[in-house]
Amino acid sequence: MPRPSVYLDHCASSPLKPAVRDALAGAMELCGNPSSVHGHGRAVRKAMEDARAVIAGLAGAFPDRVVFTSGATEANALALTGFPGRRIATSTIEHDSVLANAPEAARLPVTPDGVVRLDALEDFLRNGGPALVSLMQVNNETGVVQPVTEAAGLIHAHGGLLHVDAVQGAGRLPVAMSETGADLMTLSAHKIGGPSGAGVLILGEGLEPAPLLRGGGQEHRRRAGTENALGQIGFAAAVQALDDDENARLAGWREHMEATVAEAVPEARVAGAGAARVGAISCLILPGVSGETQVMALDLGGFSVSSGPACSSGRVRASHVLTAMGESEEMAGSAIRVSFGWTTTAEDVERFTETWITMARRLRGRAAA
Ligand code: PMP
Repeated sequence: MPRPSVYLDHCASSPLKPAVRDALAGAMELCGNPSSVHGHGRAVRKAMEDARAVIAGLAGAFPDRVVFTSGATEANALALTGFPGRRIATSTIEHDSVLANAPEAARLPVTPDGVVRLDALEDFLRNGGPALVSLMQVNNETGVVQPVTEAAGLIHAHGGLLHVDAVQGAGRLPVAMSETGADLMTLSAHKIGGPSGAGVLILGEGLEPAPLLRGGGQEHRRRAGTENALGQIGFAAAVQALDDDENARLAGWREHMEATVAEAVPEARVAGAGAARVGAISCLILPGVSGETQVMALDLGGFSVSSGPACSSGRVRASHVLTAMGESEEMAGSAIRVSFGWTTTAEDVERFTETWITMARRLRGRAAA
C-alpha cells in the first residue's frame, strides 16, 4: 500500500487540531444567534465571548479590543482602510491582502535577506504627517522575522501607528501587543490549527477603524453581520492548544534539512538564509527548475508543498517577495515553500530531504541535458 501523502504546507492552512475538532463538535450543539436575547442566543453569546477572551489573551489585549472578522484578509483590509487621513507605508514583501488595500502606500524595501529596511522607514516617517505603517511579523514565503518592535519604536517616536500582520508569527513567536509594539494586530485561525474563515483585528486603546461592513450593530458597530461564532470558538481552542516548544523543535529539523540539501545539491539556495527565521518555513530555490514542476514532482513523491505565492491558489507568477529581495524572475519562479507544523515528525523531514535531493538531481540533470 502506498504511504499517505505527507502534508508540509502548514503556512497555507494547518490541519485542524484534535482539541479544535472537539470544541467545534461541542459548539455545533449550540443553536441561535448571538445577538438574540433569549436563552439560546445568550448561550451562543457566552461561548463566543469566552472565545474572544482567549484570543485577546494571546495578544495581551482586553477582549473588547478584539474585532471578529472572516479571516486575516478582512482584518488587514479593515486596518488599512480604517484610518483615512494617515499616510500609509507597507513593505514590498507584505501579503497581497495588505498591498491591495493600500495601493497608494509607500513600499519600504527589504535587504537581500528579506528584512524590511528601517533606514527607509525612518526616511518615510521624517517626511510628512501622521502615519500608519503595516508590517508583517514573519514573512509567509521565507519565514524571515521582521524587526517589528524596533519599527514600533521609530513609528511611535513620530506619532504614527503600527499595524502588524502576525498571522505567521502566532504560535511561533510572542505576539503580545506590548512586546511587538503593535497598535493594531491581525491574526487568523487556520494557520494555527483552527478552522478557516475566522480571524481578528485587535485594536489598541482608543483606536476605532471606519467599518468596512455596515448595516448591523454587531461587534460594537465595527463589523456588521452575524458573527462566525463556531469559527471563533474553534480559533480559541487552537490558541489554547498552542505548543510553546514547537518553533525550536521545527527549527532544528529545518536547519538539518537545509544543511543536507546544501551539501548534496550545492547550486540550491535558501531564501533569507542569513536572517532570523521561524522554524516552520523553508523557501528552497532550485535554479533552472520551475517551482510548479517541483511541486508536482514532490506531490507524486508523496509530499504536499507549495510554490511561490502559495496562498493565492492557481496563479502562476514569480513571487513578489523573492523579486523584492533582488532575485531574478527566473530564480523567483524556481522556489518552493516547505512549511512544517504540529503534525510534522522528524521522519517526515528526513524523508522529504531525501526525496527533494533525488528530485533535484533528476530535474537538474534534465534541465542541463
Ligand atoms: N497574511 C499572511 C501573512 C498570510 O500568510 C495569510 C494567509 N496566506 C493572510 C494574511 C490571509 O489570511 P486568511 O486566509 O485568513 O485571509
